[in-house]
Amino acid sequence: MTGFGTAAVHGDDGLVPGGSVAPPIVQSATFSAESDERFTEIATEARGTAFYTRYGNPNHAQVAAVVAELEGAETGLVTASGMGAISTVALALLAAGDHVVVQRSTYGGTTSLATGLLARFGVACTQVDQTDADAFGRALRPETRLVLVETPSNPLLELTDLAAVVATAHAAGALVVVDNTFATPVNQRPLDAGADLVWHSGTKFLGGHSDVSAGVVVGGADLIDRVWRTAIVTGATLGPVDAWLLLRGLRTLALRVQRHNANALALAGALEDHPAVVRVRYPGLPSHPQHALARRQMTGFGGVLGVELAAGRAGAAALLAGLRLAKRAASLGSVSTLVVHPRSMWAGIVDAEQLAAAGIGEGLVRVSTGIEDTDDLVADFRTALEAVPA
Ligand SMILES: *Cc1c(COP(=O)(O)O)cnc(C)c1O
Repeated sequence: MTGFGTAAVHGDDGLVPGGSVAPPIVQSATFSAESDERFTEIATEARGTAFYTRYGNPNHAQVAAVVAELEGAETGLVTASGMGAISTVALALLAAGDHVVVQRSTYGGTTSLATGLLARFGVACTQVDQTDADAFGRALRPETRLVLVETPSNPLLELTDLAAVVATAHAAGALVVVDNTFATPVNQRPLDAGADLVWHSGTKFLGGHSDVSAGVVVGGADLIDRVWRTAIVTGATLGPVDAWLLLRGLRTLALRVQRHNANALALAGALEDHPAVVRVRYPGLPSHPQHALARRQMTGFGGVLGVELAAGRAGAAALLAGLRLAKRAASLGSVSTLVVHPRSMWAGIVDAEQLAAAGIGEGLVRVSTGIEDTDDLVADFRTALEAVPA
């Protein structure tokens, strides 16, 4: 395989028409054909790019090719958001009577999908503690079709043992679908560990600039074709301009992720011993309970960390109020450092008891490091912490 920098820049070579170095934006909802025979052909070709944009567009194909190359996948497709990707995967591969296994600590939208929407359509679900690889095996049933994995998880930075879960799930005939949003392929390639599908919120690190909502799913052609057949029905179609922006972001993914990794590791190390901080959650720290697993299945530890303040909610509020570079915003994976207080962000969606049960404490702040200079970022947090009670 070529390196990530090369894959990000050249993964779509051959798919860019004409001599333009940057791909043109094909801002067309529909495409003409020279004959009826040709029209029949293009209307039935899976993930074709010359029929109707909901079915596929050249800008979609370029993004899919690049992400597939980065993840070591045969092929892929893009959707209008990360949730558009996972909901389409679920609707494509599940039917009433089936069962799915999902992690207790996972993106809120994935939890809602598995425990809410799918339940209404007769798909049962079991939630497991993903730090316990054996818990997945205990949850499997004869009718289990999918195991939904996310590692590191949002917002607790807990890891799932990919190789172990893949072996258990495959032995029981279930497919493993991995949300690789937090790690990015630069740090972790779940398909190499045997996973069947990998999906991303392209809104995060892949796009990288907080200016586009998008989703991507990659894997083997047979599975992706099944997902595509559902995608043209669910219609979570990414606009060509947004696909172009996502591709533009992807070109620098390898460079950005290096800086995200370095910033997160430096910040985690700098905050860990601060008297106002109880604990820093970051897979790259030797103090992370799953650090050994992180070293085994990740080549870098990502840009996101969790900081738990000794003074609880008041400590979190004081830290957020004192930061100058970091912006208080949902989302992650941006060029700019973004911070949130998960308990507040989800207060209206998930009740306090559930949040506490999920381990999301009042003092937890999620930090998604940007690509600012490391020293400036660490200084911003050190200064803000001066006003935080220990
Ligand atoms: C943001 C996010 C999603 C959802 O992606 P959208 O693009 O917002 O739909 C899924 N998983 C993880 C880990 C995320 O951070």
